[in-house]
Amino acid sequence: MVAENYREVEARVAAACKRSGRKREDVTLIAVSKTKPVEMIRELMAIGVKDFGENKPQELKTKTEEITEPLRWHLIGNLQTNKVKYVVGRACLIHSVSSLHLAEALQKEAAKKDLVCRVLVEVNIAGEETKSGVSPEEAAGLARQIAALPNLEVCGLMAIAPPVESPEENRGYFRSMRLLKEKIASMGLDRVSMDELSMGMTGDFEVAIEEGATLVRVGTAIFGSRAAR
Ligand SMILES: *Cc1c(COP(=O)(O)O)cnc(C)c1O
Repeated sequence: MVAENYREVEARVAAACKRSGRKREDVTLIAVSKTKPVEMIRELMAIGVKDFGENKPQELKTKTEEITEPLRWHLIGNLQTNKVKYVVGRACLIHSVSSLHLAEALQKEAAKKDLVCRVLVEVNIAGEETKSGVSPEEAAGLARQIAALPNLEVCGLMAIAPPVESPEENRGYFRSMRLLKEKIASMGLDRVSMDELSMGMTGDFEVAIEEGATLVRVGTAIFGSRAAR
């Protein structure tokens, strides 16, 4: 069931890549497994899926303790400084860094564990009150500040687009994100790479791919709907 859903999403990812003249391998499909049981994750592991997304640090920790096979776990949700210990060394990429304060806490933990922590700068692309993320104007500045922290590596940008009726409504936001990524890349900031652009969810991942996403985060279309929590 979950494997079948994944295959359907995978076909849609491939089709969106083809439509937009992009290589399939340039886009990573992250299966967002938050709230879902380990058994469902194992069903996907059985067909070779390696990239999973979680939004709660504690849940990421518990799941990585239960599943010890090498996978790529992505932290995609809000992170508080007192929880960094749960994710540094477990997440291959932290998508949701939107303050220097958090980056400094990550730096401290990564230094303690003697490893490099890869992060994205989260941008509040639609300027929504309820969402975290820096404004587009602040993104380059934060990337530069994070780059000064030796155990962190800035790999690109992340955005959560607004919930919309039609995915086309978010095309402009996705395009703005790609332009922002290109603009920051062109600044040539020391130790700042803009290789990754994390955007697109169940409702709009195809449009996000057409506009340049390198990481799409898909939960509902793969695992089914989630209970509110
Ligand atoms: C839950 C979540 C997703 C996946 O959302 P779906 O609409 O279920 O695909 C993607 N990104 C973030 C940050 C999330 O919290």
